[in-house]
Amino acid sequence: MFELLKTDPHSRARLGRLTTSRGVIDTPVFMPVGTQGSVKALDPRELLEMGTQIILGNTYHLHIRPGLDIINAAGGLHQFINWPHPILTDSGGFQVFSLAKIRKIKPHGVEFRSHLDGSLLFLGPKEAMEIQRALGSDIAMVFDDCPPHTSAPREMRAAVERTIRWAGECREQPRAAGQKVFGIVQGGSDPALREECAKQLVALDFDGYAIGGVSVGEPEPEMMKAVEVTEPFLPANKARYAMGLGTPAQLVELVARGVDMFDCVLPTRVARNGTAFTTRGTVSIKAGFNKSDFRPIEEGCECFACRHFTRAYLRHLLNVGEILGLRMVSVHNSHMFLKVMADIRAALAAGTFAEFRREFVANYIPSRKILLAREESR
Ligand SMILES: [Zn+2]
Repeated sequence: MFELLKTDPHSRARLGRLTTSRGVIDTPVFMPVGTQGSVKALDPRELLEMGTQIILGNTYHLHIRPGLDIINAAGGLHQFINWPHPILTDSGGFQVFSLAKIRKIKPHGVEFRSHLDGSLLFLGPKEAMEIQRALGSDIAMVFDDCPPHTSAPREMRAAVERTIRWAGECREQPRAAGQKVFGIVQGGSDPALREECAKQLVALDFDGYAIGGVSVGEPEPEMMKAVEVTEPFLPANKARYAMGLGTPAQLVELVARGVDMFDCVLPTRVARNGTAFTTRGTVSIKAGFNKSDFRPIEEGCECFACRHFTRAYLRHLLNVGEILGLRMVSVHNSHMFLKVMADIRAALAAGTFAEFRREFVANYIPSRKILLAREESR
């Protein structure tokens, strides 16, 4: 399924190719997030135009609304949302542990109340795989226990043990035709727990491996450490996916740490507040200094918004609440994340990733607000 094409001699970065039944994905790859069956404010034509290769869907949210009956009747998720290209579905583990109210962890899953109407629901390895099978995603994720980063060591260990056991149960469930399944490594920032979880999951021989328990409110050094202590135990011939990360500069640094796949809600989430990502950091399009700035969001950007509209016009749209404003900032931001990954792939192919990384990270000024927004990601 995964082909390792080239490795960077100066870092852990890898150039690769992921083959699914609905298409080939060049890695490192950014996957726009379509939690509810739509990448917020963007349509499939726009996603393709900006170079999207694969999008995300979410088991928990789609299970609650519109429900499997509707998606089944439509002929699966790809048909329902009119996206005939690859889809990865998250298992719902993260949402059950972060969104849902009143959870009771049981041996075979979690009993919880819907965040929507309070109804009693149950999700475990069997259910999560059954839903993902019905959704028909190309890559399904195992159902894991994703504890907060502040959990006591004892709780973190229990979560890892549960994650390993549930991964084994997920492995045994029937899949949709051609569906691949990824394991999820937990363990917080404890190197021993990460190692143990990775080794046990690798023994179960999944199609790929995710690093979970990142993007759960931990500070950046802790997040980087969680990846660094996990990656060496993941097989080189399988794709690695860091869940829910990150800012553009973090993506470059995570690629350098051996990660191939990313998803993050930041591009579309901050767009709705009028914040745009550029290669120099974020900029508030609503800010007064853009009032009569007739340049695009970012000079040289080839997205639809930058080719057609000025900052001054987008600022006006955002200030009067016109939907086009937030749509165009969403277009630019998503395009920007995808372009960073395309540039990374080109640099890896050309053998210039070290220079690219140095320059990109030096130019990019992280904004504290954006780092905080990441904490409530997904
Ligand atoms: Zn642009």
